[in-house]
Amino acid sequence: MAALLELNRVSAGYGPIEVLREISLDVGEGEMVAMIGANGAGKSTMLRCISGCLRPVRGEIRFDGRGTAGVAPHELVGRGLAHAPEGRRIFPRLTVAENLELGAYRRRDRDAIERDVHSVYELFPVLRERRHQAGGTLSGGEQQMLALARAWMARPRLLLLDEPSLGLAPRVSEKVFEVLRRWHGEGMAILLVEQNARQALAISERAYVLEHGEIRLSGPARELAADPRVQQAYLGA
Ligand code: ATP
Repeated sequence: MAALLELNRVSAGYGPIEVLREISLDVGEGEMVAMIGANGAGKSTMLRCISGCLRPVRGEIRFDGRGTAGVAPHELVGRGLAHAPEGRRIFPRLTVAENLELGAYRRRDRDAIERDVHSVYELFPVLRERRHQAGGTLSGGEQQMLALARAWMARPRLLLLDEPSLGLAPRVSEKVFEVLRRWHGEGMAILLVEQNARQALAISERAYVLEHGEIRLSGPARELAADPRVQQAYLGA
């Protein structure tokens, strides 16, 4: 079966700085894949390439069987790819409800959108409480939940997540992973970039380890979690 997302020897960087070197990876339909790696390894850069925000210098990216070179980010959203970037990028002046609506801006299924908003409020009751509040007035953790939920509102086939648990209190972080497990269970493919390697490996089927812009290890998440190299470098063993 063809992969939903495929990277074939992708290299990318910023001007003269090469950040990613010959990255090859794939994510299958409905699969949850984790990408772990230290700060500065290039994880966010890789997600930016996939979502069309940064053009690779070499190599090819295919989504749903088609190359993405020269395709604008919003067109990729239309094809079923949503990206929740690091750092709580919400619209601060719009209300929580308006932020969620915007996540669904390409959809025409009004009833289903309303059901999905309702479902977000069930998962994150604090967002319901604050639904009429401007996004910018939420706490950092709440903004992070909103950014995650907004990306999900696009109902993508592949959700790219950049550090969704970063800086969250342990209880909130647990909740985020629980929600991701649920969305994955509903059939959504997720590429999860995470500092919290333990949690990421626990909920993913496969994983990649990125070091200095190169894929160093890959395989079933369970095997990587048992690998002494991963344990030492990422699991604090
Ligand atoms: P982190 O978890 O800290 O965000 P990361 O693995 O996501 O790490 P990237 O953000 O992709 O890493 O950064 C990889 C390298 O690229 C770093 O050395 C960083 O300084 C550099 N970099 C990132 N964004 C830019 C930019 N816009 N211009 C120049 N260099 C950049």
